[in-house]
Amino acid sequence: MEQRRSFLLLDPPSSADFCRRGSLREKDEAQNAPFPNIDLILLSGAVREGGYAPTFIDAQLDRLDWNDVVERARENDLAGVVSLVSSARFDEELRSLERFCKELGGIRCFVIGTIIMQQDKLRLQRILADNSWLDGIILNTVEHNLTEMIRAGSGETIEPLNIAVDRPGQLVIPDTKVTYGDSFRTPLPEHAIFKDPRYCFPQSKRGPVTCTQFSFGCPFTCEFCVDNQQYRKTLYRDVDDMVEEMVVLDAAGFREVYFKDLTFALKKPIAMEFLHKLAAKKLRLQWLCTTRIDVATREMLALMKRAGCYGIEFGVEHAKEEKRRLLDKRINDDRIREVFSDCRELGISTTAFIMLAFEDDTEQDVRATIRFARSLRASYVSFNVATAIPGTPFWERAKKEGFLRDVDADFGFARSNLKHRHLTPEQVVRLHKEAVRSFYFRPGVILEKMLQVRSFFELRKLFRLGTGTLS
Ligand code: SF4
Repeated sequence: MEQRRSFLLLDPPSSADFCRRGSLREKDEAQNAPFPNIDLILLSGAVREGGYAPTFIDAQLDRLDWNDVVERARENDLAGVVSLVSSARFDEELRSLERFCKELGGIRCFVIGTIIMQQDKLRLQRILADNSWLDGIILNTVEHNLTEMIRAGSGETIEPLNIAVDRPGQLVIPDTKVTYGDSFRTPLPEHAIFKDPRYCFPQSKRGPVTCTQFSFGCPFTCEFCVDNQQYRKTLYRDVDDMVEEMVVLDAAGFREVYFKDLTFALKKPIAMEFLHKLAAKKLRLQWLCTTRIDVATREMLALMKRAGCYGIEFGVEHAKEEKRRLLDKRINDDRIREVFSDCRELGISTTAFIMLAFEDDTEQDVRATIRFARSLRASYVSFNVATAIPGTPFWERAKKEGFLRDVDADFGFARSNLKHRHLTPEQVVRLHKEAVRSFYFRPGVILEKMLQVRSFFELRKLFRLGTGTLS
């Protein structure tokens, strides 16, 4: 049988402790619970359908520099590469990628742009004009049909694959954009190439783990959120395709999947159909997802549990209901407490996302938010420092009202770019540390986590999280 040429899916080396976890979120601190990038996973099926064998390198996980990546890439007959790039290191990473493509004899190259890049159409046009070696920037892994892009480039009669602008903020290659209704089909990802025992989630109990995605987009308008900028409506993949993918993952030996949907189960009828069908398969595979408090009815939670859900992440954000309303997260305290309590009763672990130190918060407000987070008795709390991300309504307001500092936004949400009315930058750092310590370093929590350990995988994960070592 004729050997197919390969296309490399690349999570590239970085000059700093800078991890990319999806084009939607980036983290700039050492990641001790790394998991494979969802965009590369979703595109792996398109590469196969485009006629190439997908291969994958996670240079950060393997601690590779560009020379190592070139060497490894030479082991395959490479036709092209699809690489992530970060917004913060974009120019530097693009130059490295250009050298990489030239060293491999001028292979084809696509980059996955971040959501921030979408908003700057002129910059995108400039990048494409200045880099004729670049075949395309994929801004949207759902609507930019990579299969067609790859196929298009392999024929002789094809126009140069430079990208055209067809509507504000969206770049497409002519004739390769597909527009879907509410539900669409996408090629089954090649999950096997992403299987690595070092991947895990902070909440993981067993491995190997991977990611997938059922729905795309979020119609809500939380003021600080950048993730919803891509789609305001929610698109769903075909339900049977999604069930089939879970069956394939289970058979391939994966034990946990993280659904990267922004709000899992938002469209109740579709979610119910999927969950019923999945539960009927009785898989060993368990899964984790993110959703909103106002989606998580008792009925939905019970069905999720039956279908293999072991953990849910919820955005709680702030202790004050009034503040949550201003942020456009209109959820009351009682409902939050009920959902966390329902999850506990059903045996679903919970993660509460919290935002500390908004521009008008006092030290007492921050402490009240920490206390509120603790009172929910969540299994995990993710304490983030309030940060204005460019392009969000929060960033616009911060600029307009004069509380935006002239520093880069930290996509890891560990450092703030706000001018606080009542807090110094040092106080914000101290309160953030205090929040983490007050939740995780309580003897009761440490003991509870140790008692819940059921596998060597989980023990190793806790060690990694606790010591910051990735092995
Ligand atoms: S619900 Fe989540 S994804 Fe949707 S806008 Fe709010 S924070 Fe963003």
